[in-house]
Amino acid sequence: MHKFTVLIVEDEKHINEFITKTLSANGYRTNWAASGKEGISLATSLCPDVILLDLGLPDIDGMEVIGQVRKWSRCPIIVISARIQEEDKVLALDAGADDYLTKPFGILELLARIRTSLRHSTQNSSGSLSQQLYHAKGLEIDFFRRTVSLDGGLIHLTPIEYKIVAYLAQNSGKVMTYTDVLNNVWGPYAENDNKILRVNMANIRRKLEKNPAQPAYIFTEVGVGYRMVDGGDA
Ligand code: CA
Repeated sequence: MHKFTVLIVEDEKHINEFITKTLSANGYRTNWAASGKEGISLATSLCPDVILLDLGLPDIDGMEVIGQVRKWSRCPIIVISARIQEEDKVLALDAGADDYLTKPFGILELLARIRTSLRHSTQNSSGSLSQQLYHAKGLEIDFFRRTVSLDGGLIHLTPIEYKIVAYLAQNSGKVMTYTDVLNNVWGPYAENDNKILRVNMANIRRKLEKNPAQPAYIFTEVGVGYRMVDGGDA
């Protein structure tokens, strides 16, 4: 089972520790940023599945973090703030936050809000609501459970590797350009950096392909991008 990654942008250490402990106990992977700039930087490098964002941060305001992240990412953002005015909530939601929770908050409610955000984002990123599974020649991907298996055996992929494979599988049969893949997985900050993509693809092929030099699942269209074998193939 591929764990969902939650980025916590929160300057108060004890709140971070409380959330981290709870999320870890519930099967999430977590990362912590103690400032807004660090939050933006980690959002770019980690591509988390959900961002929990405090608004009152020591360097820049959380509202600015929302604006920066929304320039390139559709990652769900749940604001967790001590600001209880309706106006603050409206501003945050209009700026691109998906949800707003006021402090103090109940942990069960936080977990429920995270599940809801993930449900929405999983549906959006797969393009169609109906596609839950990808099958081709012994390779199976379950987009909701986020598992990849080959001939019935689970394959362990890093979060980035999973995102690349899932994106190509959701668009199987079509050539996706290097830029398509980079933008979808890392956001435009990684644009034109094909090297990081090639390194990840080499690792993916070592895990998926019987003969990485002659791939059966993910083909290279030289100078253009990658194409994953059509999910309709038996
Ligand atoms: Ca704060």
